[in-house]
Order: sequence, then structure tokens, then C-alpha cells
Amino acid sequence: MNIDNFNFAGLKALVRVDFNVPLDENGKITDDTRIRGALPTLKKILADGGSLIIMSHMGKPKGKVNPKMSLSQIKDAVAKALDTTVEFAPDAADAAAAAAALKPGEVLLLENLRFHAEEEGKPVGIEKDAPEYEAAKKEMKERQKEFSKKLASYADVYVNDAFGTAHRRHASTAVVADYFDSDHKMLGYLMEKEVKAVDNILSDIKRPFTAIMGGSKVSTKIGIIENLMDKVDNLILCGGMTYTFAKAMGGSVGTSICENDKLDLALDIMKKAKEKGVNLVLGIDCIAGDAFSNDANTQVCSVKAIPDGWEGLDAGPETRVLFANAIKGAKTILWNGPAGVFEFDNFAAGSRAVADAIVEATENGAFSLVGGGDSVACVNKFGLADKVSYVSTGGGALLEAIEGKILPGIAAIRGEK
Ligand code: AMP
Repeated sequence: MNIDNFNFAGLKALVRVDFNVPLDENGKITDDTRIRGALPTLKKILADGGSLIIMSHMGKPKGKVNPKMSLSQIKDAVAKALDTTVEFAPDAADAAAAAAALKPGEVLLLENLRFHAEEEGKPVGIEKDAPEYEAAKKEMKERQKEFSKKLASYADVYVNDAFGTAHRRHASTAVVADYFDSDHKMLGYLMEKEVKAVDNILSDIKRPFTAIMGGSKVSTKIGIIENLMDKVDNLILCGGMTYTFAKAMGGSVGTSICENDKLDLALDIMKKAKEKGVNLVLGIDCIAGDAFSNDANTQVCSVKAIPDGWEGLDAGPETRVLFANAIKGAKTILWNGPAGVFEFDNFAAGSRAVADAIVEATENGAFSLVGGGDSVACVNKFGLADKVSYVSTGGGALLEAIEGKILPGIAAIRGEK
């Protein structure tokens, strides 16, 4: 079922969006990208003459009500974005009457789904290795079904437009779909776009394909790194993981972020890249600081010879050229994770060099996909978001999709388990 050719007139649509927007200490939205991202779907349903029941999570309240993560804080922003009034249901599990009262064109926003432990479906407050965990998990799965059924009862049709949580089998992202007929559940526009972008990377690869993986740790990216090794021509590994590789090769990395228990893994990645004929590009020099601060004193040094008391915080000048060269000639590009501590202006040059090279390659016809919270923040910071082919809203979901995993949120719509 496709959102474009479905007519929502007179129907109530339960729409899962990702309104997990960042708020400042006064509860004011600091970046409304996610709200804007869902607008095409929400507006289409209203324009057809349907009504909306919008549901989302915010933060990690772990099954408890937490006013700091209340979606009531974003109600007015949603109303403004949709140019209409929005009713608020203060308990997602007790909104039947409010949903039933909705008339065509009206909007109901449900409170943070994760105020209910049933949303994530994980037992709260019981350690995974505790003897009672398995029984508690089983019971919670039953409660999750009941919660999903309740949500489903509010509406005639279900639309999932939350790519960021599509890799989770939560009540609102997947289980709820079981309670709608196959012709009454579908992906929203944003989801469709995300799926298409991943398809572009996976199915029709124009070569050379360069992937840039950065961020803080090797351990959280190992799945995708190993998977990409079968697909890419050039693999740039940058950011904090540089120093795990440098140390594995016998270097001294000072106080740089380094996973000492992953040194063998780093050597293994290098070996595999060689075996598979992948050009693995690692930093050679870095900008080291004498503190984790924008105002730290700096020096350029080899990634393998960082003095004691100093830490590598950004890619050095030679490395930036190396990275740019591996990117500029590419025809397919995937970027996940910054090349340095880009949040500090003085350590943003590495990420900026990566972003600039991606923009140049895109201008020359490459398809470039940037995904994951921090790389998206990077291209936004540099004002380059509209100069790459696609900026994904998904972090974990994007990586899992590129690893080739079936995302539960998408499988549920398609009736797969
Ligand atoms: P991740 O969540 O693993 O994608 O990591 C993103 C974070 O990695 C960003 O907040 C960056 O500031 C950080 N990062 C990048 N390079 C370094 C580095 N050399 N040292 C410490 N943190 C880094």
C-alpha cells in the first residue's frame, strides 16, 4: 500500500513519527528538522480529509512519566507547522475518547509513548542476568501486544514515518501494524525516501564507492565496517577510532580515545581490507590538544607519536588531503560519523574537509548519503546539507539497513516477521 495513492478521506490515521527533537533547558526546540521531515505525510492525510493521531517517543524515560520529556512541550510547534490546532492526549494508553471525537482535518498528539514500558517491551528494573528476567520479558511481550492493540483501536489506518526507530520492534513502530489489514498500513513519505536512498547505496552501486566511517569508537561500528568491506572500493576510518588503529600498529597515542581491547580487531580489519582489495584509508597525522576543550593548546603530530598528556582530536593536514582524494573521485559515497571533535570549532577542519570533498563529488555526479546524528549535525553546522544527495534521519536504523538487515518497522508494514 502506498501513501500517494491511498485516500484518507473520512479516516483516522495513526501516524508514528520521530518527534524526538532536541530541547533546551526551557523546553524550547533547538532543531525542528524532524518535525519538518514528517510534514509531507501529515499534510497529505489532512489534505485528503483524514484526521491525525500522531505518536512519537522523546528521549529515554524508561517506562516512567518524566515531564522533561513530555511531548506537550512541542504541541504548539506541531500546530504551527501544520497550521492548525492540535489536541493533546496526556496518556497515550488512554486516548480512545479523544481519538473517537476527532473530525476530518483534526489532529491529536499522544503523550510520549515511552512513558509506558510496553512501548519498548523490555522489563524495567530487572537485570538481564537475573533469574526472573526471562519470565518478566515474556510477560512484557504480552503487555506490549495489549498496548499495541489499544493504540491500533484509535484509528482506521496506520502509517509509519519514523525511520529513526525502524530498527526497533517497539509497540508503535512494528507490533501495532499486526492489528491493521495489509491494505490499511503503509510507509510515510519520509520512510519511502529513506528506503530509496538505502537502495541507491546497496543495489545500484556506481563505482568507485567510498565510505567514510568516523565517530568515537570502533566497537559500535564494527558490524557496518565488516559489511561495507564487501561493497566499497575505499574505506576511510576516521575520528576517535583512528587511535585504536594507531596503537594497534605500535604507535603511542597519548591520552587519545582508544579501545585497548579492540587492538586485535583493528589489525583484523586491516588484514581483511587487504584480502578483499579494499583501499583502507587511515589518518596519518592529527591535530592533538592538551585538553578535551576547544581552547586546548594544539600541535600537529603523527597519529603514532602523540606525546604523553596530548590527545588526537582532529585529522591533520596531510590526512585531510588523503581523505579528500579518496572522496573526490567517488561516484557513490556514504558518510557516517565525524572525522574529529567537530563540535569544537578548532577541531572541525577534518570533518569540514570530508564534507567539502563530498560536496565536490556530488557536484560531479556522485550519489552521496550522509547519515547518523553527528554527521548530519556536521553538514548542518557547515551549511552543506542541501549540497549532498541525501541526508538520512536515521542513525542506527540507517546502519542496520546498510548492513542488509531487515528493519522490523518496515517488515511489519510489509507483513514479514
Ligand atoms: P559516534 O556517536 O560514535 O558517531 O561519535 C560521534 C562523536 O565522536 C562526536 O561527538 C565527536 O566529537 C566524537 N569524536 C570524533 N573524533 C574524536 C576524537 N578524535 N576524540 C574524541 N571524540 C571524537
